[in-house]
Amino acid sequence: MKFGTKVIHAGIHPDPLTGAVMTPIYQTSTYAQEAPGVHKGYEYARTQNPTRAVLEANLAALENGTHGIALASGLAAMDVILKRLEPGDEVISTNDLYGGSYRLIRRVYEKYGIKSRFIDLMDGEAFDAALNENTKLIWVETPTNPMLNVVDIKSVVERVKGSNALVCVDNTFASPYLQTPLDLGADIVLHSATKYINGHSDVILGAIVVKDERLAEEFHFLQNAAGAVPSPNDCFLTLRGIKTLHLRVEQSCKSAAQIAEVLRRHPKVANVYWPGFPNHKGHDIAKAQMHRFGGMVSFDLKEDTLENASKILSNTKLFTLAESLGGVESLIGHPASMTHGSIPRPERLAVGLTDSLIRLSIGVEDTSDLVEDIAVTLSRV
Ligand SMILES: *Cc1c(COP(=O)(O)O)cnc(C)c1O
Repeated sequence: MKFGTKVIHAGIHPDPLTGAVMTPIYQTSTYAQEAPGVHKGYEYARTQNPTRAVLEANLAALENGTHGIALASGLAAMDVILKRLEPGDEVISTNDLYGGSYRLIRRVYEKYGIKSRFIDLMDGEAFDAALNENTKLIWVETPTNPMLNVVDIKSVVERVKGSNALVCVDNTFASPYLQTPLDLGADIVLHSATKYINGHSDVILGAIVVKDERLAEEFHFLQNAAGAVPSPNDCFLTLRGIKTLHLRVEQSCKSAAQIAEVLRRHPKVANVYWPGFPNHKGHDIAKAQMHRFGGMVSFDLKEDTLENASKILSNTKLFTLAESLGGVESLIGHPASMTHGSIPRPERLAVGLTDSLIRLSIGVEDTSDLVEDIAVTLSRV
């Protein structure tokens, strides 16, 4: 089955009870039993819910895995993955990690004795120096936020071969339409389905996908044991959002390419970060491991001041100033004051995250309207 067919059909069947074509919302906490222990496979809704089960089967298919595990948020999904670790275990992760993921590793898991090392995963020497027998997890994010750096998933998998470490890829920015890490040898895929997968900015939901029976059992155990499950209604909305995932991401990518080009030629713009440009550091890898270059574009200004950035941020008509990404509506954000506000300025500047850096999440509006909105706003700076 091709991707555009999977989003509509994989794991989705008319409701056996009524024939309802769309997956019903099983809004129940418990299920009647005929006699003690005699039931239809459903006992209590933290453990099993039919709406959630359909979503999980569909997500597994989209990532070319065998098992999906849905959680209440992207970070709840990450939490389940980290809960497998034991005191003394180590995690190696990319140094420009999503802020919430960094916070979970450092502020929550470090106190349980989980060590973390943050490195440039493309730096082979640093990688080999960080990897040891206690390394149990490699946390990859690609493309990254907001610099859109690209990590070569296959080369990370190669590097840890023969070690005790599993490779997990946070595939939130790419979505399974653009990139399927399990096919490249990763062990675990994580999603903040809040973003592209649901795609309508009306749900917080997370997911794990694996293709290994034992790992799936461990994650299902933790899903039930720790209990951060999504609501049936949110599972329904996510299933509904997925049906247009390929169309939405395709349109975002198309517009992103045009907007990136307009920005690149603009006299007031200093740098444009978009993996589709041949001079982008990760272009060749992105070309090899992604189906397209994504719907996220970051740029900064020649006159690199907060005031200039702020003129753009508060004057766009179609781009809404807000956190998050991957929805049908275009968003504009300012990492230095929003998502990365807690990082000291010198550290931020060292990785290219300047005062005027602006991040765009391109939605599915008409491309020419988006281009005009950016051009008109830039002319006012
Ligand atoms: C948003 C996000 C998360 C966290 O997901 P939530 O659903 O907000 O908990 C994790 N990783 C990346 C890359 C994200 O963008």
